[in-house]
Amino acid sequence: MTVFGWDSVAADGAARAGLLHTAHGDVETPVFMPVGTAATVKAMTADAVRSTGARIVLGNTYHLMLRPGAERVAALGGLHRFMDWPGPILTDSGGFQVMSLGKLRTLDAEGVTFRSHLDGTQYRLTPGRSIEIQHLLDSTITMVLDECTPFPATHAEAESSMELSMRWAARCRAAFQAREGYALFGIVQGSIFPDLREKSCMALTNIGFEGYAIGGLAVGEGQAAMFETLECTVPHLPENRPRYLMGVGTPDDLLGGVARGVDMFDCVMPTRAGRTGRAFTSRGILNMRNACHAQDPAPVDPACTCPACTKHSRAYLHHLFRCDEMLGPVLLTWHNLMYYQSLMRGMREAILDRRLQSFAEETRNGWKTDKEGKDVLF
Ligand SMILES: [Zn+2]
Repeated sequence: MTVFGWDSVAADGAARAGLLHTAHGDVETPVFMPVGTAATVKAMTADAVRSTGARIVLGNTYHLMLRPGAERVAALGGLHRFMDWPGPILTDSGGFQVMSLGKLRTLDAEGVTFRSHLDGTQYRLTPGRSIEIQHLLDSTITMVLDECTPFPATHAEAESSMELSMRWAARCRAAFQAREGYALFGIVQGSIFPDLREKSCMALTNIGFEGYAIGGLAVGEGQAAMFETLECTVPHLPENRPRYLMGVGTPDDLLGGVARGVDMFDCVMPTRAGRTGRAFTSRGILNMRNACHAQDPAPVDPACTCPACTKHSRAYLHHLFRCDEMLGPVLLTWHNLMYYQSLMRGMREAILDRRLQSFAEETRNGWKTDKEGKDVLF
């Protein structure tokens, strides 16, 4: 059996290249984790997701606890078997989506009661129940239940919210059943206030976790404030544990996050954009619905080796989206996931060669070269 852990392989400034060891296989970091909300990365087979280079995916506790239910997933052999993903799976705690999707929710010191957005059934999520659900799912990396502090928040609001999350983090640690190769990650909160972020880091490291996530960002504070918050958070986290920036982000956010010492990311952006006709490419962001692609025989991204780019033209992708054919979202999701994976691989190689800064500059310059992408920043 493998002991869960993260080893540093190389560093370039604050950026790190490493290797994550889990019960379900090793993962090179920095890493982007595609989001498999309801036990599926939307529009993709598991083999297709693997073919993009992804080695770890994310599942959403909130969605899975409502449908099909954690107990049913457990009876069917766990999430890995259920969705044909033998590799590592990280699950969120359910808290974020309870607050964004759940109806008639009431938060108290012990947990949150809410009604399903699907049929109005009442549920209760506590630190203990969130950990139990993630155990039933057989999640490789379990996240603590926390309150994602809304933005903006006053210092006092952010402080009491963060302190609630720290009390829940201790309860999650106590409820978590240790298994070799499995991990529980704590989540740093504190909005954009450096003193609260530092306090949160101290509280979590005192409890002790296998990894540390930075939560409560990408909620409307903007990229500059997010980067500043990273700069005043990361130095207070242990050197020898993986760091995970939750729900981030654009390709430019990934460049900035890695440069500031983050190892793990997840975001719905590449998959959601792919379903709506937007392509992230080495030459800029494209909207395949735009008429400028109607007669263009060129690939979406000449630098990409995905099926959309090696077998099809921009004109074909444009046609599929104009006709609402389901192959359009499939091909463009595939492409976007491949682009995100190649960006992460490029950053890892650049860290190994200690040239991350020039890699980031070249990548950002590349985004300005497409005729449509010229004036569009991610
Ligand atoms: Zn492609």
